[in-house]
Amino acid sequence: MKYVDEFRDGALAAGLARALAREVDPGRDYAFMEFCGGHTHAISRYGVADLLPPNVRMIHGPGCPVCVLPIGRVDMAIGLALARPEVILCSYGDCLRVPASDGLSLLKAKARGADVRMVYSAADALALAVHEPAREVVFFAIGFETTTPPTALVLREAATRRLANFSVICNHVLTPPAITAILDSPAASRLGALHLDGFIGPAHVSTLIGSRPYEAFAARYRKPVVIAGFEPLDVMQAIRMLVRQVDTGRAEVENEFTRAVVRDGNPKAQAIVSEVLALRDEFEWRGLGVLARSALRIRPAFAPWDAEAKFGLDYRPVPDHRACECGAILRGVKKPTDCKLFGTVCTPETPMGSCMVSSEGACAAHYNYGRFRDVPVHVVGTSVPPNPDQETA
Ligand code: SF4
Repeated sequence: MKYVDEFRDGALAAGLARALAREVDPGRDYAFMEFCGGHTHAISRYGVADLLPPNVRMIHGPGCPVCVLPIGRVDMAIGLALARPEVILCSYGDCLRVPASDGLSLLKAKARGADVRMVYSAADALALAVHEPAREVVFFAIGFETTTPPTALVLREAATRRLANFSVICNHVLTPPAITAILDSPAASRLGALHLDGFIGPAHVSTLIGSRPYEAFAARYRKPVVIAGFEPLDVMQAIRMLVRQVDTGRAEVENEFTRAVVRDGNPKAQAIVSEVLALRDEFEWRGLGVLARSALRIRPAFAPWDAEAKFGLDYRPVPDHRACECGAILRGVKKPTDCKLFGTVCTPETPMGSCMVSSEGACAAHYNYGRFRDVPVHVVGTSVPPNPDQETA
């Protein structure tokens, strides 16, 4: 296949659905986690769950960088932007809307006078620093392995240019430790019981890290992993591959996304990241708690461009809104519709938690594509209005 439309072909999807229905063992249930919010989005947008046999269940995972960002990290950025008028605080659009303490978000801090700006890339933030030499430009960097190399590149570029008015708050997190936390959760009994038969691994992350890091999950935990692209046929094919592994008693790492993922990933990108960034001892994730060696910090050689060091920023953990179920949803133990606020108090226009902010968040994906309704809703480029009468069904 050459064009993206071919990966969305309805007739092929129907054929895959029929094949899956023939192949599943009617005597058992299958529960697979799609780790990444990109897959959650595709499953909701294209109605993939509706095409699966009733005994195949998809569980949303924590792979949405905006969703797993804890309130304390957003508070840190808001505090800096409000306290220091010389600072221009930049981040990606979704990040600016994440609810933080005291009813604030970065966007609401902007309304209170902080200079907060949306950028499309780390390079945009660096360019802003070049054009605003009298200001301090701070890039609030978030993301899994996919968006880490661009952050590392701008830090290296700032160091090369000796650009003194640019720095980064580094919130980059890693996929394998989050999967480990999910798999260890029933044993640790702090994340709630969760039965899983396998994972769909993220395509874009895997272009960077390769398929090798998932091999431990197959070997140690006996959980199959299939790395898959983000189109609906990619996802359906990955589910079929997982079903086949389960039915034949295999636990292997398979790669559905052969068009971009190789076993060792992208060594050039990995080298740039490890030159500039190092593992943090620990990092707090929303929903998963504090995980050891699960995120990246800026190396001491680049300390002049580390905003946490430069401005003496301290991290203070903050609990989530009491009624928000984001934590349990990110752990895979609850669904968006289990939250009492879903679709009523909490909508994409008025998010109460991070999972309703990003388009990759499970709550936003369910809301935007009407997955909470009894009847299918066709949505073309717009949000579905809330329907409080139906959302508890
Ligand atoms: S619906 Fe809103 S409040 Fe409820 S879990 Fe999702 S983001 Fe949190």
